[in-house]
Amino acid sequence: MNSLAPLAPGCVALVGGGPGDAGLMTVAGRAAIEQADVLLVDHLAPSGALAWAGSAAEVIDVSKLPRGAFTSQERINELLVEHARGGRRVVRLKGGDSFVFGRGMEEVLACAEAGVPTRVIPGVTSAVAVPALAGIPVTHRGVVHGFSVISGHVPPDDPTCGLDYGALVGSGTSLVVLMGVANLSAIADELLVHGLPADTPAAVVARGGHPDQEVRAASLDRIAAAATGIEPPAVTVIGEVARFAVPTLAPFHPALLEETR
Ligand code: SAH
Repeated sequence: MNSLAPLAPGCVALVGGGPGDAGLMTVAGRAAIEQADVLLVDHLAPSGALAWAGSAAEVIDVSKLPRGAFTSQERINELLVEHARGGRRVVRLKGGDSFVFGRGMEEVLACAEAGVPTRVIPGVTSAVAVPALAGIPVTHRGVVHGFSVISGHVPPDDPTCGLDYGALVGSGTSLVVLMGVANLSAIADELLVHGLPADTPAAVVARGGHPDQEVRAASLDRIAAAATGIEPPAVTVIGEVARFAVPTLAPFHPALLEETR
């Protein structure tokens, strides 16, 4: 596969736009934007990347905002198919990676059903990049050997949540929570109930990669209070690695100090 091959007319390219700073997009993503006749763009996609589009390209905002503009997924699927059938090169620009809580596969399947060819250009997911932009590695040798990325969109006590919080605690991995601002207090409580120690470090990183990026760090039992007033989008990291967020918060874990020397 050649991700830089020219886009054919009538094709849809699903482009992962990274966490918001256009500089964190892939070369293939940029090339697709440059060739696009029409771009369907989410609110979390990097707006700076639109400067790479041709002057004749049409830009359609298909944001799904909880309060504000809203385009249904069905309508987005229809628009992708309609524009591709019109012989245009369509770029679907999303935040992060299209397949991480991005409904990207639904769009690929809708196109496939309509006989529209698609190309998937992966993006830098905020699950890894946003912690990194705040200095937090999601793994760290000798400290944590994996990370779990979960959606915090549905509260833990909701039957449709679908996550086993006991298993997450038992996994010993760093926990990365997306879409979790509104439910942060309930998520922290659930982790505490399942035995994660109250002094586990945690950090909330809001608007990662944007000029107004903001980081709040505290122990797990205090993180919800510390994050009061934080507005989405934000990524929460829970686990020893979150100590790297604010070095003054607490003395570094001796193991971390050893590792970083
Ligand atoms: N597909 C995206 C995630 C979509 S879900 C990806 O791979 O990154 C939307 C969630 O992503 C937000 O609620 C937030 O948790 C996170 N997010 C995306 N961009 C972010 C940013 N710049 N800063 C902080 N969080 C971000």
